[in-house]
Amino acid sequence: MSKKIKYISTRGGNESLEASEAIIQGLSNNGGLFVPTSIPMMDFTLEELLTFDYKKLAYEVMSKFLSDFSETELRNCIDKAYDKKFETEEIAPLVQAAGVAFLELYHGPTLAFKDMALTILPHLLTTAVKKQNSNKEIVILTATSGDTGKAALDGFANVPGTSIIVFYPKEGVSEIQKRQMTTQEGSNTHVIGIEGNFDDAQTGVKNIFADIDLSKKLSDSGKMFSSANSINIGRLIPQIVYYFHAYKEAVKQKYIKNGDTVNFTVPTGNFGNILAGYYAKQMGLPIGKLICASNENNVLTDFIQTGIYNTNRPFKLTKSPSMDILVSSNLERLLYHISNNDSAEINELMNNLSKFGLYEVTSLMKVNLHEFIGGYTTEEETDKGIENVFNETGYVMDTHTAVAYSVNNSIQDIPVEAEKSIIISTASPYKFAADVLNAIDPNTYSEMKNEKDISKILTELSQKTKKEIPPSLRDLHKKPELHNTICRINEMKKLVEAIVLD
Ligand SMILES: *Cc1c(COP(=O)(O)O)cnc(C)c1O
Repeated sequence: MSKKIKYISTRGGNESLEASEAIIQGLSNNGGLFVPTSIPMMDFTLEELLTFDYKKLAYEVMSKFLSDFSETELRNCIDKAYDKKFETEEIAPLVQAAGVAFLELYHGPTLAFKDMALTILPHLLTTAVKKQNSNKEIVILTATSGDTGKAALDGFANVPGTSIIVFYPKEGVSEIQKRQMTTQEGSNTHVIGIEGNFDDAQTGVKNIFADIDLSKKLSDSGKMFSSANSINIGRLIPQIVYYFHAYKEAVKQKYIKNGDTVNFTVPTGNFGNILAGYYAKQMGLPIGKLICASNENNVLTDFIQTGIYNTNRPFKLTKSPSMDILVSSNLERLLYHISNNDSAEINELMNNLSKFGLYEVTSLMKVNLHEFIGGYTTEEETDKGIENVFNETGYVMDTHTAVAYSVNNSIQDIPVEAEKSIIISTASPYKFAADVLNAIDPNTYSEMKNEKDISKILTELSQKTKKEIPPSLRDLHKKPELHNTICRINEMKKLVEAIVLD
């Protein structure tokens, strides 16, 4: 029997929840994030790991964290998630190119790594609701920098007992990301653009969660809020699985030897993906450094180097919009772990963050941060990375993956214990087709710059790279736009009320 894991808030208090309760609730009542009471150790050997397929592995990893799910319940969720929705049988292929290995996490239905967790979250959530004998309708409230929104909409569309509201920054997502969301079908889906950036959307959503009046009204009408953002442990836990899967594939392909330590380089925004890597390492997977790659919004790079987190800087719109974030929510979980679970300290840091936009961690925490390396790339370096890798090898990276690739190259001089890195590839190049085309063929792109028909850009990229357009994007330009609501930041709450209380 493995140890029973419960969930407590990073900001302390007496709440101690079962996994299913934490998944339903999303965020702790005191504003903190739920963390496991301890991080379970892997109880299989690396030899055994080699024999696991993705579903078996998902069960072995997730069951350690979801202590109150029965074996049948969890296996059902896994079976429904990791099936033919994914383009490839191995779910997440590891591809070697340009001297490194890329873990491609974008072969799910919406073409970004968010599918790795959001194909299973609706099943975990509806199972959790049944376990808790709740008859409340769940209203999923989500802020998105572009990819979570579509993946969550796809996952929750027409799921009985749920509805979903997505807020995206009107000017802060790619044309394809926007169309993927505004064409979403399903009578329980709502998509709203805001006049603000992702941080505004995320803060707005957190404020709605914290609004006691509204949750009371909601409860009286038989509903409750939950979250599909990576603040929900139901997002985070499924993401741990693919670090083990990557290790297995790397051994099978002889990229590393079994038992070797390997680094992971992760294009980072809200710090969810890389935190899952940290959990995998704590569980015993031989990971060396976790390399945190940022774009020009490089708060995390400075933080990892200095221990000072400072959001007082301009917010930049980049070609890797899913990483345009200054306040990385999941960092709070890391702070909790590297402070040896010091929730008083976390309260103080988070107070400083909301008062001054700034905090500095303790010297103990600075030492513990050494498991990470931080780096960032400029927009030009990102473009160069895409162009060079394509010209030299024919391999096509999206803009987010290219940030990680370039950071991974730039830190080659730093001595680390592991020789090799696996780069986490987070999106299909087609999702950011215009910017990818611009990087590999600026001349053609400049002729097409004002092209409103996205299918022409997709076709051009496909001819250029000799790779097929993913089926889900082929007809995107023909689909009717079903959602066209735009609102100001201070109208978010009113809109949510109108939707959920009508
Ligand atoms: C969400 C996202 C990221 C950032 O992941 P986090 O877990 O928020 O750090 C990176 N790349 C793409 C394509 C994404 O969709």
